[in-house]
Amino acid sequence: MTSLAARLRVSLGVPHTIIKSFSYSSLPETHQILQKTCREFAEKELKPIASQLDKEHLFPKEQIKQMGNLGLMGINVSEEYGGAGLDTLALSIAVEEIARGCGGTGTIVSVHNCLYANLVDRVGVKEQKDKFLPGFTDGTTLGCFALSEPGSGSDAGALTTTARLDGDHWILNGTKSWVTSGYEASAAVVLATVDKKKKHKGITAFLIPMPYPGLSLGKKEDKMGIRASSTCNLILEDVKVPRENILGEVGEGFKIAMTQLDGARIGISSQALGIAQAALDCAMDYASKRIAFGTPIIKFNAVQERLANMATRLETARLLTWRAAIMKDNGQKFTKASSMAKLAASEAATFVAHNCMQIMGGMGYVTDLPAERHYRDARITEIYAGITDIQKLVIANATVKESGVASN
Ligand SMILES: Cc1cc2nc3c(=O)[nH]c(=O)nc-3n(C[C@H](O)[C@H](O)[C@H](O)COP(=O)(O)OP(=O)(O)OC[C@H]3O[C@@H](n4cnc5c(N)ncnc54)[C@H](O)[C@@H]3O)c2cc1C
Repeated sequence: MTSLAARLRVSLGVPHTIIKSFSYSSLPETHQILQKTCREFAEKELKPIASQLDKEHLFPKEQIKQMGNLGLMGINVSEEYGGAGLDTLALSIAVEEIARGCGGTGTIVSVHNCLYANLVDRVGVKEQKDKFLPGFTDGTTLGCFALSEPGSGSDAGALTTTARLDGDHWILNGTKSWVTSGYEASAAVVLATVDKKKKHKGITAFLIPMPYPGLSLGKKEDKMGIRASSTCNLILEDVKVPRENILGEVGEGFKIAMTQLDGARIGISSQALGIAQAALDCAMDYASKRIAFGTPIIKFNAVQERLANMATRLETARLLTWRAAIMKDNGQKFTKASSMAKLAASEAATFVAHNCMQIMGGMGYVTDLPAERHYRDARITEIYAGITDIQKLVIANATVKESGVASN
């Protein structure tokens, strides 16, 4: 299989000003090739097994390796460290297509790229990148990101996992929760506080190989959807981490995590778009074949109105997601844009999946067809990488600040 990175090498540095309008056909040629490659891969390798992965909670090991060979496990990582060296718009396009084939695999790809590989590449020093990137960009293994705890989710600054300096090592103790790919990962970025009194400014990021002495995994969570992706607690008991494994500086961890989450919201928005697109495809296919009162139901105004609303919500969300990606790639501030994308795309996904089920009637509610899986998969996108209410806080605060109204 030809490496996608090699095929798309020319895309590096493509200025986004050449995008004349927002449709697939007006994307740079390199991004169109990426989209086609990912769609073909998802249709052939993911869609046929998505139902089995979901029902049996199976991790798609072989498919992750194939995606690694294509360059999809280090999309935004520099080529020097085995990544594809592509931009955020490329990440968005790739994650959408993968999630269209399998929502759970979309989670694995999005979280690994946005919250591990790109983070290590962006913040790590050379020795850390040499150690924590090879193998992670070619699909051999995965990384995970451990910020949340049983007592702190949205209020991430209230985390209580501690790190105490002991000679040349830090000793970590605490429990991290909801860690995506915790079961398969070979390294974790763990956020812990070196001084609780310093609040956010005590939080520090640590790179920990897995398995590791003192680090154990909790039970695999039995989730409503995205079941191809594992989720578990990481329990740290006197985990002795060398000083050189600090990612960034002591006390910079909260800022690093929040900046990384801004970008990760574009990944989750893209996952939501893929799930929504799959649900819309499913609804249209069914409605064109299902006959009621002697007519294909797609001809009924009520069904057409649903389809119109579904398509509009989806395309609106795609525009916001691409806009956020392009702003990030152009070096503009994109925090508000990525929160808007996440809010719009996650709500579009649940809206489209809900309406897909309505259009399909009873057949939407059983596991013979994928509608009910899309409905369950869509739901998580409103929760992780910052729950909807937090996106609204970010958007409202930024909007008020921009307007200057607060200072009047
Ligand atoms: C499947 C899955 C995978 C995940 N993967 C990861 C991962 O890989 N790494 C990781 O670190 N975390 C991960 N998470 C954690 C996820 O990011 C959190 O669940 C999420 O941030 C919400 O936190 P919480 O569950 O503690 O809810 P809470 O923060 O307790 O929120 C509960 C409710 O309170 C509301 N609320 C809280 N604060 C405010 C506020 N200021 N204003 C208004 N309303 C508010 C919320 O909107 C929500 O309705 C994952 C979660 C799940 C379910």
